[in-house]
This record gives sequence, structure tokens and C-alpha cells, in this order.
Amino acid sequence: MDLFALRRERLIRQLTAEDIDALMVSNPVNVTYLTGFTGDSTVLLLRRDGLLLVSDSRYTGQLAEECPGLPVHLRPATQTLPQAVAEALKGFGIRSVGFESNAVTVAELELLRQQAPSLDWKGNGERVERLRMVKDASELAQIRAAIDVAERVFLAFRSLLRPEDTEKELCDALEHYARRAGGSGTAFPPIVAVGERAALPHAPPTNRTVASGELLLVDWGVSASLYKSDLTRVLINSKNLNFSRTASAPAAKLNEIYSVVLQAQEAALQTVRPGVSTRVIDAAARTVIAEAGYGEYFGHGLGHGLGLQIHEAPWLRPNADTPVAPGMVFTLEPGIYLPGWGGVRIEDDVLVTPDGVERLTHLPRDLEAMQIFA
Ligand code: ZN
Ligand code: ZN
Repeated sequence: MDLFALRRERLIRQLTAEDIDALMVSNPVNVTYLTGFTGDSTVLLLRRDGLLLVSDSRYTGQLAEECPGLPVHLRPATQTLPQAVAEALKGFGIRSVGFESNAVTVAELELLRQQAPSLDWKGNGERVERLRMVKDASELAQIRAAIDVAERVFLAFRSLLRPEDTEKELCDALEHYARRAGGSGTAFPPIVAVGERAALPHAPPTNRTVASGELLLVDWGVSASLYKSDLTRVLINSKNLNFSRTASAPAAKLNEIYSVVLQAQEAALQTVRPGVSTRVIDAAARTVIAEAGYGEYFGHGLGHGLGLQIHEAPWLRPNADTPVAPGMVFTLEPGIYLPGWGGVRIEDDVLVTPDGVERLTHLPRDLEAMQIFA
């Protein structure tokens, strides 16, 4: 059985448990996960004893290439996708159908209900997302490849970095390096933030130059094939900050904040093992930052799952309670953001293993290794 069939098999067990006759998968990422098809405007209808892809003639060739052998219904140009889906479902002679409540608009649902009024529509936004949390070997290989490309991108970025480069130019350069290094592109618009702009966790790029600040926060990731990576490093401008024996007060402050963030990440890393709640992992990092007096300056969750999407389940937040399991991949990205001063975030990608955790990203994290223009 191929791996897509295996994933569908797991989902069918879920249908049986929920007592649903069929599932309408309309989130394109989930259609990819379950069939290998990477186009859009295509809905997967999954039943316990069969399936149907409802698509249109633009995708005939791509469907044959990416998911050969799967039954396809091509809707005519005179029919909308919801109309074609409703018609196919009526043809199944079923009573209930599950839909993805986070992927169907209210208007689409109204239309589907009008077209197939006898069906019982059961919304749920987590059926496929729950399966996607645990990665199989082929997914792990693709995530490792995406990380490998991202790390090579960073080495190129760093070696070509000049004091006169602006945030905007460096964001553009990251896009270029991502493709040159073998990725299909960056996984999200990179964040390059100089000095106090790094206090904005998602700073949009400006024309500030690297030379104008003490630190440079870079948050980048790469899509290699379909899977993503996500990392953050903070580079220290040694021309502006001197960490020698006669270290200045600003250098001492950066040193302190950097080491608190690094300790927070390390504390979280030590906590990860199968069965531990995502809330507990978040708390491990959050406690280190709070005890150092910076609790109010760490406003976001500790991390997120990554895979086909850059942000996906599981979520590592104070109020998220998912026991982690072998095969889950997520980021650990504590940060401290001081308005008017700047911010430090350190982000790595980790894999839960049967007996603990593996750090998948290998770039150095110590402050010494982060100095530029020394
Ligand atoms: Zn990131
Ligand atoms: Zn992230």
C-alpha cells in the first residue's frame, strides 16, 4: 500500500469512529497529504469503500502525473465546484458527510446544503490536521532536506553580509539564496530586523542598514519539495558592541538577554519526550524567562508544528494541551522583545523520538558564534 493510501486508511478509521459515511476534504494542503496532488480547486471525497477527486480539466495532466490511478470526476465549465461536489455526494447514496469547518466558507456550505438537503453535514477542522502532526519517514526526509537547504542559505547569507546592506535587500537576498541552494523558495517572507526593530517579532523589512544597529535578527525558512523549515538566529554587530574584557554596558545587557533566551530554549529541549504536554514544554522555557525578570517581554507561544505548512499543529502555548508523540516535529522559539532596544529569538526545529528528542537544526547557537564584522 502506498503511503497516501496508508494515510487515507487512518482517516477512514476516524470516519467509522465518528459514524460518518463520507468526508469532503477541501483544504488543498490536506488533499496533497492524502493523495499527492499539489494543484488546487480539487476536492477529495473519501468514503469507507472508495474515493473520488472532483476537479476540472485544467488538472487532467497533473492528476495523472501526481496521483495516477485515483478516480477523478472532471466538472464541466458550466458547474461550480460545490455543485459538482454535491452532485457526486448525492450519487453515493449516503446520509452523512464530514467537512473541514476551517476550509469551507459559510457561502460554500450554504450552497452545498441547498444542493444536497438530505445530507447531514458534520463540520470539524482537525481530522486530517491531527494525522499530520505525526510525520512518517518520507515526510521526515523532506523536512530534513528543507532544514539542510535553510542552513546552507544562512551560511551564504552570513558570508556575504555587508554593513551597508539594508533589511529589505537582505530579505530579497534570502529569497534568492533559497532557490540557489536547491529549495523551491522561502517557506514564508523572511524577517530581517536590525537593532530595535527586532523588538517587533514579525518586523516588516525597511531600509535600515546592518551597520546602524547592534544586532540583526534573521527568521527564515525554506520549502524543499513540499515540506518546510523554520529557523531564527540573532547576529551581533561586533563593530557596535564589544564583548572583550572591557565589555560595555550595552554588550553586557545583550549578553544577559541572549543567554536567558538560550537557557529557555535549552530548558524546553530538555523537557521534550513522548507523553509530555505541549503546555509543559512551553512552561519550561517561559519559567526561565520569567525568573530572569523578562516574563512580560515574551508574548508569543514557544513554538508550532511544521511540515506541509509553516505553522501547523501541535501548538506549544500556555493553553495548548497536546501530549507530544514520536514523529512530531515542531519549533522551539523563545524570545525576549524590549521596545526601543531590540529583541532576541532563537528558533530551532526538533523531532520527538521514542526516547526523547532530536534537534534537527544544527547551526551554532552560542553568542560567540553569532558575532559579525569582528
Ligand atoms: Zn521562524
Ligand atoms: Zn516559527
